[in-house]
Amino acid sequence: MNPPRAAVLPGWHCAACGRQVRKDDRVCSHCGARLVQPAPWHEQPVWIAVLILTLLGALGIPLIWRSRQLSRPAKWLFTLATILYTLIIILLLVWISILLWEHLQAFQMQMNDLGM
Ligand SMILES: [Zn+2]
Repeated sequence: MNPPRAAVLPGWHCAACGRQVRKDDRVCSHCGARLVQPAPWHEQPVWIAVLILTLLGALGIPLIWRSRQLSRPAKWLFTLATILYTLIIILLLVWISILLWEHLQAFQMQMNDLGM
């Protein structure tokens, strides 16, 4: 009878010796090298940045602090940059709203002058 192989997933290989390892192993059972688990996508700085820039803004700050990929100073830097970015977006939206409002008022005045 074969030993149970279900625990061994294809694609999990020791970076040191190249042999297959189990997903949950912390050290390679063949050569003893320490195995580093890849971080989930939502902990990787690039994906956090994409989420913050496209969707979340300042709501993405908890993702920054939960990530194990960032050092503490990097987290503070990332957080400050996110707050600044969010403020700039809010100011831009307010500015665009004021511009639109002014154009609308000017348009209404023109319509009134024409007797419409
Ligand atoms: Zn190994």
